[in-house]
Amino acid sequence: MTASTPPRLPAKIDPLVRAFLADPGAAEAALSEFGSPAHLVFPQVFAENLARLRAVLNRGLPYRICYANKVNQSRAFVRTAEHAGIAIDVASAAELAGALEAGFDPARIEVTGPKGAAFLRDLLAVGARGDVWATHGRGATHGSGVAGDPDLRWPGATAATGASASHPGGVTINVDNIWELRRLAELAGEHAKVPVLVRLSGFAGTPVSRFGIPLRQVDEVFEVLAAHRDRIGFRGFAFHIDSGEPGERLRAVQACLELTERAYLEGFSPDVLDIGGGFRQVFTADADAFDAYVLALRESLLGRGEPMAWGGNTFGFHLDGGAVHGTPVFHKYANTVPADRMLADLLDAGLDAQGGRSFAQVAAENLLEVWLEPGKALVDHAGITLARVEFVKETADGSVLVNLDLSRDTVTPADQEVMVDPLLLPNPAHAHGDSGPIGVFLAGRLCLERDLITNHKVWFARRPRSGDVIAFPNTAAYHMDLSAARASMHPLPPKLAVRQRPGGFEVCRDEEFDPETLGRESVGPPRHGVR
Ligand SMILES: *Cc1c(COP(=O)(O)O)cnc(C)c1O
Repeated sequence: MTASTPPRLPAKIDPLVRAFLADPGAAEAALSEFGSPAHLVFPQVFAENLARLRAVLNRGLPYRICYANKVNQSRAFVRTAEHAGIAIDVASAAELAGALEAGFDPARIEVTGPKGAAFLRDLLAVGARGDVWATHGRGATHGSGVAGDPDLRWPGATAATGASASHPGGVTINVDNIWELRRLAELAGEHAKVPVLVRLSGFAGTPVSRFGIPLRQVDEVFEVLAAHRDRIGFRGFAFHIDSGEPGERLRAVQACLELTERAYLEGFSPDVLDIGGGFRQVFTADADAFDAYVLALRESLLGRGEPMAWGGNTFGFHLDGGAVHGTPVFHKYANTVPADRMLADLLDAGLDAQGGRSFAQVAAENLLEVWLEPGKALVDHAGITLARVEFVKETADGSVLVNLDLSRDTVTPADQEVMVDPLLLPNPAHAHGDSGPIGVFLAGRLCLERDLITNHKVWFARRPRSGDVIAFPNTAAYHMDLSAARASMHPLPPKLAVRQRPGGFEVCRDEEFDPETLGRESVGPPRHGVR
């Protein structure tokens, strides 16, 4: 490996984000105003991701997109989803409160994940108060409490809430387990009918999951549903598979369709099939370069070529008998199939049990609404993290460490390695002396040996210097917020929302972002104090 052709992991970057990074001084201005480090989110990119999924779904198929809130805590994303008219998938009391505060009508909220008794009680209270909120209309704020008046009823079905005639409006509860289903029936009370989806798991050829009700317990599900028809408004089956393997999702669809048919026969009227999330991101701009990097990394683990791993890290590979085995911790970075194509392929896939008709056809013919819960697909490329170079040093073994003002958990969960190249944004005050390409490790600010931001070597076009800015691409999904800790008592980085306007970029605090003026065409003069 020569210095003139360093291994690269070029990131795919949205044109809007690229324009922001290329705008002289834009990143610098954001950090000067709000402090470094900082997370930046780009709601316009979220809106574009949404438009691409909608383009695939708009084919006469009834559908609902539920933004999976847990992917990022950004309020700007939640408000953008609300403004765009889609639904939201929340998985905690705090996410639920945030969704209501952002203006989501309870009928546009779905709750997934394991819930616990206290949360279930909260959810029933929200359902009961749905009618109260509906009269206040969108955008009303309700504080953070969700405890409601237990005497109020679930609101009746209305066109405005999107509820169908056979199912009441209110938060849809996507049930994770049998205990939850039974508990809901107990808590629901006589006057309530709770909209429920039943999440299944244990499909043939799918790795075991801790979530959902195993298929073999489905008889028990039908028993509970049948015993509580007055309290549980069964809307259909759901699954969520975290796999990029198309066959797995298709088998799950097939199993759910068969059970939906059985539900019709048993006198239920399910009208939803929820296919969950798991639609992949595309991180790399150059799959060949990625493969070449990983090859070089594997060689280096065997002691060949330039060392590329910090501190004996093997990235999940096993070294055995002069060979490298196993699956690395970063394998998802190699994906090249975008979410909209994954979705299109699933909808177009022929179903053997349905005479080869496609999933989309079967759903449309049966008036089965296809719900999906994309998280990472909606925020793909819609966030970056900026940090400043504090200093550069060399270690005893000659490695170059670029020390930043953030820690590893700010940009990635500890067990994952970020395998796209960060970008070096030179400090405008620096003269452009050129050191030539250099391979470095990025180090965090926490006084622990393990606080290396990259355990693999990263090449920059020149040696970074104090005051330069490093941009981590594509950190919106499960990177910014998933494991950020305050071990060294540094405050968590602020989150900022960036909007492109004619003539430049506008940056505000995430919680202050107003989606009203979203869109590249329909932008008017800045509005102040609206809503
Ligand atoms: C996390 C989660 C999602 C979102 O998954 P992505 O892979 O981000 O699309 C959707 N549904 C459920 C039930 C989840 O737990």
